Amino acid sequence: MKIKAEVLIIGGGATGVGISRDLALRGIPSVLIEKGDFASGASGRNHGLFHSGGRYAVSDPEAAHECISENKILRRIAPHCIEETDGFFISLPEEGLDYRERFLRACEKVGIQTTLLSRDEALEQEPELNPNLLSAVRVPDGAIDPFALVLGNAKDAEEHGAKILLHTEIISLILNGDKVKGAKVKDLYQGEEYFVEASYIINATGAWASQTLKLAGLPIGMALSKGSMLITNRRLTHRVINRCRPPFDGDIIVPNHTVSILGTTSIRLEEVENFEVTPHEVSLLIQETSKMIPAIQGTRLIRAYAGIRPLFQSEEKGDDRAISRGFVLMDHEKRDGIKNLVTITGGKLMTYRLMAEKTSDLICKKMGTNVPCSTHSKPLPGANRPTGLTERLKQFTTDRGEVLCDCELIQKEEVKALLEKEKLKNFQDILHRTRLAKGTCQGGFCVYRLFGLLHELRKIEGDSNKILKGFLEERWKGIRPVLWGTALKEEELIESIYKGIFNL
Ligand SMILES: Cc1cc2nc3c(=O)[nH]c(=O)nc-3n(C[C@H](O)[C@H](O)[C@H](O)COP(=O)(O)OP(=O)(O)OC[C@H]3O[C@@H](n4cnc5c(N)ncnc54)[C@H](O)[C@@H]3O)c2cc1C
Repeated sequence: MKIKAEVLIIGGGATGVGISRDLALRGIPSVLIEKGDFASGASGRNHGLFHSGGRYAVSDPEAAHECISENKILRRIAPHCIEETDGFFISLPEEGLDYRERFLRACEKVGIQTTLLSRDEALEQEPELNPNLLSAVRVPDGAIDPFALVLGNAKDAEEHGAKILLHTEIISLILNGDKVKGAKVKDLYQGEEYFVEASYIINATGAWASQTLKLAGLPIGMALSKGSMLITNRRLTHRVINRCRPPFDGDIIVPNHTVSILGTTSIRLEEVENFEVTPHEVSLLIQETSKMIPAIQGTRLIRAYAGIRPLFQSEEKGDDRAISRGFVLMDHEKRDGIKNLVTITGGKLMTYRLMAEKTSDLICKKMGTNVPCSTHSKPLPGANRPTGLTERLKQFTTDRGEVLCDCELIQKEEVKALLEKEKLKNFQDILHRTRLAKGTCQGGFCVYRLFGLLHELRKIEGDSNKILKGFLEERWKGIRPVLWGTALKEEELIESIYKGIFNL
C-alpha cells in the first residue's frame, strides 16, 4: 500500500490536529499520523490550566503575551472546552508582597487584566484558602478540557477533507537529496507497513521531536522535563489558585469538573516514555499546595499522573523552569538544507492554535500560496453546546436513564450513542472520549458496567478478561502512589469485586 499526501503531519496532539484543521480550512489537504489515540502525549497529560499568562508575566513576557492573546481567542472559538473560573494569585506571609508588586506591573505590561483583593474578600470567595494569606490578585485564568479541544479540532479537520490515521507510527523518514520524500509507517493493529509520499512534512511530535528528527539523521537539543500532578476526590475551589511567587513546584491548583488537580513538579528525564510519579513528588506536592489550601493535608487523593514537557533548548540553562515555555518553529531548509521539512515544538496547550497558524503560514510560503488563516474566528464544532457540570446535572435530573458512572453522571445512552457513531479501536479510546473513569472511583465501579454495555452491543473483540486486566494494570499505576487511609480501604473493596465477582 502507498498513500500520497500534499502535507504529512506527524503527531496527533493539540499541535498536530490544530495544524490539520488550519490547513484544511485553507483548502490544503493533509494526512496526520499518530501512533496512539488523539492526545496520548502531553496534550492528554497536562494540568488543564487555561492560562491567563499570569504565571509567565514576570519571567517570560513573550510566553505570557501569547497566552493572553490566545485566551481571548479560545473563549470565542472553543467555549465548550473551557470553564471560565478566573484565577487567584495568592500572597502568603513567607513570600511577602514584593513579588506581588512586580507581578502586577508585569501583567499590566502584557495586557493581563488584574483585580487586587484583600484577604477577607479572597476568603469570602474561596473559603478553603489559607486564612493567613495577605492578599489575592484575580486574573482571567480558567480550566480547559484538553480531550474536547483535540477531538473538536480533529473532527473539524476531517469534515474539511483532512485524513487522520490513529494507532499508526512513523518508523522512518526517507531522504532524497535536499528533501524528505516521505515516511515509512506501521499500522500498529494490523502490523502492516507502507509508504506515505508527501510534498511537505511537519514534525509535531512534541517531546518526541528530537527522536522523530533522528529518523532523518537530524537531531535537535530538547530538554525533557517531567511534571507530576495529583487529583483530589473533590473540587476544592471554584477558581484556579496560584501562588504569587516565581514559578516553583506545587504552586497551582486547577479545578477540573468535580475534582481539583494539584501540580506540578519539574524533573529532568533522559527518556520520553516509561516514567512514573515518585513518592518524593507526592509528598512535595501535598506539602507545597497545602500551604495555599490547608485542607489538602486531609483530603483524599484519587490518582497521580505525569507528563513530559517538550522544552526546546538552544543552550544549557541549568534549571528547566528557566527554559522558555514559548514555542519553536524550525524551518529545516534554513537549519539543515532540507527544503520541505518543518518542526514545531515547545509551547503550551494554550498556544496550540497560534503554533498551528505559524506552521501553516510557513508551509503556505513554501508552497507559494497565500490563503489566510481563519482559525481565530471560526468556532470549533460543538462551540454552542454547553457542557458544564450544571448543564449535565440539569439534564440528568430531567432526563434520567440508566447510569454507567455515578461520579461523573454519565448515562448509558450517551456512551451507546458514541459507540454506535465512532469506530474506536480499543478500550482506552472510549475513556478518552468520555468522562468515564475520571471521577472519584477512577473506574472501579463504572468500568465493569461499561464492559456489560460493550458485550450487549457486541463491540468487544478478543479476550475481554485480558482487556479488563489491562485497564486495571494501567489504573493501578496512577493509584498506587496515592494509596493510604480511606483510599486504601476502597481499593481493597474494588480488588475484592474484580477478584471475587469477576474471578480475575
Ligand atoms: C506536566 C505538564 C503540565 C502542563 N500543563 C499545562 C497547562 O496547564 N496548560 C497548558 O496550556 N499547557 C500545559 N502543558 C503543556 C502542553 O501540555 C503541551 O505543550 C502540549 O500538549 C503539547 O502538544 P503537542 O501536540 O505539541 O505534543 P503532544 O501532545 O505530546 O503530541 C505529540 C504526539 O506525537 C505522537 N508521536 C510521537 N512520535 C510519533 C511517531 N513516530 N509516529 C506517530 N506519532 C508520534 C505522540 O504519540 C503524541 O501523541 C503541560 C505539559 C506538561 C507535561
